Parts: sequence; C-alpha cells; structure tokens
Amino acid sequence: LPDQRFTMTIDGVAVPGSEELAVTDPSTGDLFVRVPDCTRDELDRAVDAARRALPGWKATSYRSRQESLGRIAAVLEKHGDEIASLIVKEQGKPFPAAQGEIRSGLRWSRGIAALELPVRVAEDTPERRVEVHRVPIGVVGAIAPWNYPIVQACWKILPAILAGNTVVLKPSPYTPVATLRLGELLRDALPPGVLNVISGSDRLGPWMTEHPGIDKISFTGSTATGRLVMRSAAATLKRLTLELGGNDAAIVLADADIEKAVEGLTWGAMRNAGQICSATKRIYVHDSIYDRFSEAFARRVASVRFDRPDAGDAEVGPVQNETQFDRVHAILADSRSEGHVFLLGEAASGFDSGYLIRPVIIDNPPDDSRIVVEEQFGPVVPLLRFSEVGEVIDRTNATQYGLGVSIWSADLDRGRELGMAIECGTVWINETQYVSPDFPFGGHKQSGMGAENGIEGLLAYTETQTLVLRRG
Ligand code: NAD
Repeated sequence: LPDQRFTMTIDGVAVPGSEELAVTDPSTGDLFVRVPDCTRDELDRAVDAARRALPGWKATSYRSRQESLGRIAAVLEKHGDEIASLIVKEQGKPFPAAQGEIRSGLRWSRGIAALELPVRVAEDTPERRVEVHRVPIGVVGAIAPWNYPIVQACWKILPAILAGNTVVLKPSPYTPVATLRLGELLRDALPPGVLNVISGSDRLGPWMTEHPGIDKISFTGSTATGRLVMRSAAATLKRLTLELGGNDAAIVLADADIEKAVEGLTWGAMRNAGQICSATKRIYVHDSIYDRFSEAFARRVASVRFDRPDAGDAEVGPVQNETQFDRVHAILADSRSEGHVFLLGEAASGFDSGYLIRPVIIDNPPDDSRIVVEEQFGPVVPLLRFSEVGEVIDRTNATQYGLGVSIWSADLDRGRELGMAIECGTVWINETQYVSPDFPFGGHKQSGMGAENGIEGLLAYTETQTLVLRRG
C-alpha cells in the first residue's frame, strides 16, 4: 500500500500533485503513505473548475441532483470495504467502526437526497404574487477534521451538491486518504468540476478561507480554528457554517436506570477513543446513586477492548495523532499533579503502541480542573457529584461550549423540562449522539454557527431569492 498513489480530483481528472504530504498510521506512529500536498496553483485550478461547472450544475433539475446523490450512495455501497480499510490505516479505528462510518455515509446519501426545497408563496393576492425561492450560493469550500473523515465529508458535500452548489473538499492533513479515494471513485458519478477533492498541509485551509473564488466555507474542527476561519472569511464576506468543539455533559438523575446509563455513557465517552465533538466529556451523577454508578461505570469501561485496530477483537483504537496524544497526556498529568483520584487507568495510561491510550475515569475532580473545563477529545472522562438539579444545570451551562448534553431519567417530561434549560444545540434524553440526516445538528455559543443536516442544514447551502410578481 505505501506504493499506492492517491490523487486529487480536479475538474474530474486525476491530479498527482507536484508536492507531497506524509500520512502517519496512528497504530504504529510510522509512515502510512504519501499524498499530494496541494499547491496554491493547484487550489486555483480546483476553484476555477468548480466555478466553471457552477452554471451548468445550477441549471440541472433538483430531481436530477437527487439522482446524483443516489450515484454517490452506489459508490459507497460498492467500494465501502475498500474505503473502510483506508480509514482504519489513517484514522486508527477498528474495521467494524470504519464500516459503520461507510454505512452512515450511505444513510446520509439517501436521507439528504429525500429532502425537498419547496418554493414558499409569501403573498398571493389579486395585486401580486410573491415567491421565495432557494438558490445555490456558489462554490463551497468544505474543510473536514480527522475523527470521521468520510462522515464529515458526506455531511458537507451531499447537501451542497443537492442544493446546486459546486464543491472543493479538503480533508484533514492527518486523514486525507479515504477522502481522496472517494473523490477518485466519484469521478464518473458527477460532471467534471462539481466535486473537487484536494489534500494539503496546514497552509491549504487558510488559502481556501481567503480565496475570492469560494463563496461559502463549511468548516468542522476546533473552536480555535473556527475563529481563524471566521476572521479570514470576513474579507470576502463568505457564508459560513461552523461546527466546532464541545464539552458535552451527561446528567444522571436519581431516578435513572443505572444499567442503561452506564451502557450508554460508556460508549458516549469512549466511542472512537472519545474523539467526537459530541462525546460525553463530563458526567454529573446524583449523590444518591453516585457510588453505585461509578462502580458499575468503571467496571464496564474497563471491559471495552482498546487495542491496535488490526488486533482482531479491538473495539476502540488509538487516538489519531501525536499532538492529540500529547494533549490528552498533558490533561492527565495535570490531574495527577492536582491529586485527583483515578477510578480507572492511572497505571495503564502510558504508551502502548502508536498513539493508543487506555481509558481513564477521574473521580469527582473540582469544577475548575482542566479535565472538566477543557475539551479532552480522548478516552478519559471525569465523574462529578451533584445534589440539586438547579445546581447541575448551572454547572452544565458554565462553559463557552454548547454542542450537546444527555440527561438520564425515568421521567421523559422532566427530561424535556430540564433539557429546555440547557444552552446547547441538541439534548438527548436516555441516549446520546443519535444524529440523522432528518434533523439539525449544530452548536450554540462557541460550539459553532448554523447547523448541518435536516432541512435547516440544506437551507444553509442556499440563498433566498424573492420574486415579486405584480399582476395586472
Ligand atoms: P482543527 O481545527 O485542527 O482542523 C480542522 C480542519 O481545519 C482541518 O482540515 C485543518 O487542516 C483545517 N485548518 C486548520 N487550520 C486552518 C485555518 N487556519 N484555516 C482553515 N482551515 C484550517 O480540528 P481537528 O483537530 O481536525 O478536529 C478536532 C476538533 O473538531 C475538535 O475540537 C472537535 O470537537 C471538533 N469537531 C466538531 C464537530 C462538530 O460537528 N461540531 C465534529 C467533529 C469534530
């Protein structure tokens, strides 16, 4: 595989690129493969191709664009295992989890294709008829992170293309391979220039956000980078969708089904080694059940198989890159130096293989500790005691983030009532991380701007165009 050449897709053809970028296998820390490091000239060619394809693509019927999403689904279905094996090598998740990522892309291809963009008639009188149409924005620059490369790409390219935009897609420099391969496989599914896929190092994102030929940026990544994207996009007033970081809380009320909460939150915190924007990153448990919950939670988390993705029964792999590995260890070092109690993992949190980190649970650290305040983005989570519901809502909201929260209770009405008091984009009651092409997902506060998915996400790839038709 290190000899396999992955190419960028610009104007429907392969572009091997004139410079190279190394991609690391996170399960070993060794070189996986080299891919093109897009130059400024190559970016210009991609943007130019997208601009030239725009008038033709905009003019196609909505119905035919829905069919093009069907062709994307067919490619994902036919080549799913090949793409999944590339995700394993570059991202580090075990093969069944990578297959889950492909299934999710498929579900999105079909679900987004089923959305409609109706014309709204705002006035219909003998004097005039007013129609509000939705038209494409233009060329979309899609910038994705490294935790779910194919899911994140699908969340952006599917609604963008369906709404009649053309796209320049840039995966993370850490995980460009599966996305480049998807671009190669889609060359025959879409007219040239409608979807361009480029890979590059840290210089490429800023070139895109300042590029005068790009009309909208759809960005998923950290809050810190989101601020830079917004600043850079100001110069050309680009439209923006920003999906940023989170510090999602779980609130386990006294009447919760402990067994179900333990199971749900084990995966909420540990799935993909905690590298999910909406991973459960702090768990508040009512005083009356804290001891029972923490004991059962530590036992369940300890039973999850963390290993190299090629170890047959691995359920969770390493974190994706060295910077993230160091970041998680810095937070753990802070907990150690502050004297926090480790319910699980203190002895075993060292370097195993590549960037593998074994799970850690910290017992009731202070609210202002790094492990509570920061987005850890790793398989480490604090449990926190609470006694009053009003108090836990305040503690949940005391953050710059506002992505998601889960509430665990036998009483759904109570869950709904508390959920409405929380400042975040999604509240889950008795589960977590359930997302769908049918409803929006996005962050309040500094977790983002706008939303993806659902009709709301589709509308974010359009402008309104109001037609005022004076009669008589
Ligand atoms: P990151 O911000 O480092 O990078 C994200 C992308 O932005 C990459 O493609 C990167 O190359 C590019 N980039 C970097 N600097 C840029 C710049 N100055 N201008 C334009 N683009 C630039 O994020 P990451 O480390 O890849 O991802 C992890 C973060 O993403 C976490 O904070 C996580 O919570 C967040 N995330 C959010 C969601 C969501 O939907 N809200 C989903 C997944 C991940």
